[in-house]
Amino acid sequence: PVDRLPEIQEARLKLPVLAEEQVIMEAVRENPCVVLCGETGSGKTTQVPQFLYEAGYASGSGIIGVTEPRRVAAVSMSHRVAKEMNLPTQVVSYQIRYEGNVTSDTKIKFMTDGVLLKEIQTDFLLQKYSVIIIDEAHERSVYTDILIGLLSRIVPLRNKKGLPMKLLVMSATLRVEDFTENRKLFPSPPPAIKVDARQFPVTIHFNKRTPLEDYTGEAFHKTCKIHRMLPPGGILVFLTGQAEVHSVCRRLRKAFPFRKGNTTEVDTSEATRKFKKSKQKKTVSLPRIDLDNYSALPVDEGDEDRQAGIGEEEEDEGSDLDLGDDPGDTEEKADPSIPLYVLPLYSLLAPEQQAKVFRPPPPGTRLCVVATNVAETSLTIPGIKYVVDCGRVKKRYYDRVTGVSSFKVSWTSQASANQRAGRAGRTEPGHCYRLYSSAVFGDFSQFSEAEITRRPVEDLVLQMKDLNIDKVVNFPFPTSPCAEALVAAEQLLISLGALKEPPHTGRVKDLERAKLSSPITPLGRAMASFPVAPRYAKMLALGKQQDCLPYVIAVVAAMTVREIFEELDRPAGSEDESSKLAQRRARLTQMRRLWAGQGASLLLGDLMVMLGAVGACEFAGCTPKFCEENGLRYKAMVEIRRLRGQLTNAVNAVCPEVGVFVDPKMTPPTESQVVCLRQIVLAGLGDHLARRVQEEEILDPKWKNGYKTPLLDEPVFIHPTSALFKTLPQFVVYQEVMETTKMYMRGVSAVDAEWVP
Ligand code: ADP
Ligand code: MG
Repeated sequence: PVDRLPEIQEARLKLPVLAEEQVIMEAVRENPCVVLCGETGSGKTTQVPQFLYEAGYASGSGIIGVTEPRRVAAVSMSHRVAKEMNLPTQVVSYQIRYEGNVTSDTKIKFMTDGVLLKEIQTDFLLQKYSVIIIDEAHERSVYTDILIGLLSRIVPLRNKKGLPMKLLVMSATLRVEDFTENRKLFPSPPPAIKVDARQFPVTIHFNKRTPLEDYTGEAFHKTCKIHRMLPPGGILVFLTGQAEVHSVCRRLRKAFPFRKGNTTEVDTSEATRKFKKSKQKKTVSLPRIDLDNYSALPVDEGDEDRQAGIGEEEEDEGSDLDLGDDPGDTEEKADPSIPLYVLPLYSLLAPEQQAKVFRPPPPGTRLCVVATNVAETSLTIPGIKYVVDCGRVKKRYYDRVTGVSSFKVSWTSQASANQRAGRAGRTEPGHCYRLYSSAVFGDFSQFSEAEITRRPVEDLVLQMKDLNIDKVVNFPFPTSPCAEALVAAEQLLISLGALKEPPHTGRVKDLERAKLSSPITPLGRAMASFPVAPRYAKMLALGKQQDCLPYVIAVVAAMTVREIFEELDRPAGSEDESSKLAQRRARLTQMRRLWAGQGASLLLGDLMVMLGAVGACEFAGCTPKFCEENGLRYKAMVEIRRLRGQLTNAVNAVCPEVGVFVDPKMTPPTESQVVCLRQIVLAGLGDHLARRVQEEEILDPKWKNGYKTPLLDEPVFIHPTSALFKTLPQFVVYQEVMETTKMYMRGVSAVDAEWVP
């Protein structure tokens, strides 16, 4: 029996899923797999695990597992459910990549989908679980898709073995045919239960014109207007990335300053009156601006929090904007008489900051949450009456052929725009302001594509081969990656030695087919046990030579965490700021030069800089102060530290005789170790080789100092911040090509001409 607090019980009763408890539990009892659809906020994530718990699914030997595509959701939902059930976090726990509070008493475990996928590698039948809930299936994250494919096989196997297991797939949209109508996945279709949400009508207001450039400015002005003119009710603004979120938060805080203490004397009716008629504009001192730290950027997550290189850090306060459909305020003077309680929300925001959005705003203020698309379905913010939707989303794009990646802001889908609008009608009728025209909306694609169709899949293919799924093409994907991507992945893995090319008879067709069923090698198994991309796993597997392992581990950790250096090309606000920024830039450039070392070590290039930065930071005890002074992102460095620990354990597990350990006082590599490291890097990044464009090949003056790669017609370049920008070696390998203002190689390291095959 669960002993809930009365106020919790009362709130639960208002949730639409509660009315369906019996229907849901009966379906689960009668079927091995069930699909549950319900609007965001209907109570799926917080309530369904409780239903299962109360029905006894965690009272035997098995526990309840819930997967989330986002770390944020895994952590915050486990806390919420523990609180609702009045149970300690030893019982309702979470596990994300590096941390968790799972104990032997855990009965409900929230985790990221990646964590469960790893568990399948050690126990294919997932025997510790009696039921698995795959949450947020509509997001179609790669791991979620793979898990559904695997579980479609695991569940019948468990049942055959007399160890019954249930699968529940939960989605916020009704578009579940990819799961229910896919015979390869589920030969007999699982029942789909639909929860009717008590959704209030939301009036959609389209812009007549669509701002193509300054949509953040438009979002800011629209929000100001709502706050001045419309009755109380929370505002939720959807933007595309962390920098935009901060910029709009800053502007809003400046326009409607709120300080603790300046609101208590304002009574609500007074405030309401002022919402309508507030023309007196006083100049007040600016509020303290709370600039939340930029966070580290883990792999595969929080892509929307990355820099897109599209100049989104605009800060032209009160510039003369064409307001199009929304004329009126061109300039926002600070107006403290109607305080706005502005909160940012994005994936990588610290949990304490995130939790603020669930609490009521201070009395006399209006809540305004400025968010990325995490607020679209993962988290439900109470009390939102107005939604401002920029209609865009930031995504990482990969060119399937060349592997070039870029972050682009593009139009979102109709389905997701409708999800966003729905956030306004949770508690009463609401309004959604779309900063684009209805014609533009008509051109949006209907749904967003599954992630698996949009990115390289070599890591998945290796994981699957390690699970002895040799014919990856036959895997029951909810949506298959394209054949081209699968072939490219197998070819890369063969070239890395992780897969063995199967014998073939020489007929082209056989060859094509054979290519997709290459068996895994012992090296491949070792690589699969390292939680990093296959290219980096290969480097780890080779790291034994010349005692290079500690260095390889540090470099791989740094390459995996990415974005370890603070951005230096931030535009400055004032002149004073710009000279400070220039000073800082000079100092950080100097540090990078120092870390790059001299002579032989210089040739390891950007990877040497990373190694030097990690070494120096650890030596100094990895403090926020050291990071701040040296232009390193503190959270990235902490993440690198954890990953080094994890990789060290993984290497020792595969190869106990090397006895490698994390040395906080790692000395720089010797000259011969640097040479060895460069060869190891080449072995991992061999397909990312680039050759300097020769004099006679220069067809265009812009090609000067460019590099030629096998797959691109156009040359790629070494970035001015790279350690090898001045050296321009004949041959280099790179981590990735990123298209910003130009095609730039990132993570460049020099290759000796005689090593090139
Ligand atoms: P769904 O999974 O269907 O989108 P949830 O179970 O996440 O719905 O949310 C149900 C309700 O619980 C929502 O009204 C939401 O606002 C509330 N809720 C979720 N997390 C918290 C929290 N940490 N604090 C307060 N309320 C919360
Ligand atoms: Mg949910």
